[in-house]
This record gives sequence, structure tokens and C-alpha cells, in this order.
Amino acid sequence: MSDIRIRLMKSVVGAAEAAAVARVIEDGYLGMGSEVQAFEQDLSAFLGHERQVMAVSTCTAALHLALQACDIGPGDEVLCPTFTYVATFQAISASGATPVPCDVRADTGWLDVEDAAARVTPRTKAIMPVHYAGGIGDLDAVDALARRHSLRVIEDAAQAFGSSYHGELIGARGDIVCLSFDGVKNITSGEGGAVVTADPIIAERVRDARLLGVQKDTDKRYSGERSWEFDVVDQGWRFHMSNLLAAVGRVQLRRFEGEFKPRRIAIASRYARLVGATPGVRTLRQEYGPVVPFCFPVFIGGGKRDLVRDALAAEGIETGIGYKPNHLLTKYGGGAIRLPVAEQLYEEVLTLPLHPALTDAEQDTVVAALSRALERFPARERMHADVD
Ligand SMILES: *Cc1c(COP(=O)(O)O)cnc(C)c1O
Repeated sequence: MSDIRIRLMKSVVGAAEAAAVARVIEDGYLGMGSEVQAFEQDLSAFLGHERQVMAVSTCTAALHLALQACDIGPGDEVLCPTFTYVATFQAISASGATPVPCDVRADTGWLDVEDAAARVTPRTKAIMPVHYAGGIGDLDAVDALARRHSLRVIEDAAQAFGSSYHGELIGARGDIVCLSFDGVKNITSGEGGAVVTADPIIAERVRDARLLGVQKDTDKRYSGERSWEFDVVDQGWRFHMSNLLAAVGRVQLRRFEGEFKPRRIAIASRYARLVGATPGVRTLRQEYGPVVPFCFPVFIGGGKRDLVRDALAAEGIETGIGYKPNHLLTKYGGGAIRLPVAEQLYEEVLTLPLHPALTDAEQDTVVAALSRALERFPARERMHADVD
């Protein structure tokens, strides 16, 4: 395999982030303090001031804290799509609850809400839709299902920072929304995440639980103090964010509207136009603009995906397979049930390079290599019927 020339994903950071980090170092306190508070304020200004934002160490931690704040744990079930990164499932099992894998829709890769509805039991306590590739499915139907069965809705919005639904930003609406600022997401703080909610009880429980359950420790840290006399009533974790990372996140948030968002939308729209016309490839049904894409998956049928992936790798183009359905993993059932749409997407999916620093010329190289590979491997025996 040749060296990677075109990366699948990467952090796009530079002098402004470096200066922000240097400023925190000069200030002399790298842990959780006023910079984290400022990042939370910037995020709630971006999302709407009635939303409370709790910055944490990762989105996985955010999902875990959100579940715990809802008193969801052992014996409880949480509905979620199987076609997601394993973080969604690990966060649920970390809380002690059982993730219930549901199938997804072939056209969007998003939760099949009817399939989820059929899996509701008396133990179901929450539903966790995942905004695959930044796309938003039928959140209204999720809310309706949740109302019918008194479920909490915890959105795994790790891939959807900046996307919107019915004109409202993801995070600006909904029960509880979890964001990711990991190194390759739509904005990054190095590693990081946030819980966003308008529910003051959930907000307070998340604030305490991210700091070992020490009550009101957040207030102390934001005024540069420590708690010495305190009470703890719940299990807590070391899931808070540091000033160092918050400084990076604040710069990234300022760059989002003018730089990252338009570039991601432009790249995905161009892929949709160029690749969408190529025979043998299917793309997601997605409206870029409202959708700020995290990745660009294509679906290649006829058992050819791996051949195409190898051909691109030989030209130095890195691609991904997102995702192996979680119900196939040993910890989550080892394939004891069948979720046919997700399983087929897994066989066909190939994610193409997408990050704000990708140039048009690099994108042309990817598209040309993809069509060459598809011509080189003509449709063989169909191993699986193509998805409509
Ligand atoms: C990246 C990702 C996560 C985890 O985010 P971290 O901040 O890395 O913990 C969770 N869910 C999905 C769908 C993701 O893509």
C-alpha cells in the first residue's frame, strides 16, 4: 500500500488555536476554570440562550452523564440505531442500561423510527437517535414516540454540530442533545463534548456528576476556587473539560460559520454532483445547507466495496467503513438478531475524504480514482440486491 496522500478526516487548526492555548498557559491554570465557562457561554450564545451547556471530556461522557442524569441505569433499555460508532453503545452500557439496537433507513442511514417503536417494552426509558453523517431524520416522529411512552430523548449529535432541523440548530431544540468536539468532528477542542438541555434539573445533575459528584463544584471552579466542604449524593466521574481544550474549542467555534461550515457543505455538494452521476454508486438523500456534513458515505453494491477501497488505497486515498453495526459485536449480541438494512449498508458503505482543508483538486483525484475503480471491477454476480 502506498503512503496516504489524501486523508479521510483531519483536524484543521492553526495559529489562532495555538495563540489561544499559549494564552491559557501564560494565565497559569490549565484545568477547568474560566475558559471552560467562556466556551459554555459561547456555545449557548450560538445555540440560544435558554439552552444550558455543560462542557465535558468527550461526547461519550456526555451521553453517559445524560443517561445517568435521567436516572437511567441497570434494568432499563435505551433504543438506538445499530448503524453508529460504538461510542453510542458504550455510553449506554457504561450507564448500566441495555442498548436496544434498531434498524436504520437505507436512504439516510438514520434511525428507522417504526422499527424502534416495535422494540418498546415496559423497560424502555429513552431513545437515542444518532445524526449519521450530520443528517437529521424524522425527529418529530421520535418526539411523538417518546411522548407516547414517556421516554427521554437523548440525541447523539456527535456528527451534526451546526446542522439544523426545521430551521432550528441541532442543540437549540430537543430534550437533551450531546455534542462531540473530538479531533475530526465539525469543530474540535482536541477532545471534548457537551451536554445541552433546557431542563435545569438535568443540567445541575450533569454539572455535579462531571466533577466526581461534588455538589456545586462547577461554581467554585469558575470563580477560581476549590470545594473543601461539600456533600456527594450520586456516583460522579472525572468527565469535565480543561481550560486548555476549551481555548481551542472557542477558536474553532468562531471559525465555524465563515469557514468550516461553508467548506464542508461545498465539498459534500460537489461530491453529490460528481459521484451521484457515477453508475454503481449510491449516495445519501441529504439536503446540504441545513445539513453540515461530518463525512461523505457512498454505497457500492455487487460485493465490490472492498475492491474499490483497495484500489483507492493503492493511489494513496484513505477511506473509511462507517459503521459495523453494533448488534454484530460480541458485547452487544454478536449477531443474534438480524437488522437487514444496517447489515447491507455495512457491506456497501465507503466514506470518502472530507475535511475543510480538502482541496477541489484532491476531491477530483478521489472522484476520478473512484470511477476508474468502478470501471475496473464490473458488476459481478450480485451478492446482495442493491438498495433502492
Ligand atoms: C465521534 C462520535 C461519538 C463519540 O464522540 P467522542 O467525543 O469521541 O466521545 C459518539 N457518537 C458518534 C455517532 C460519533 O461519531
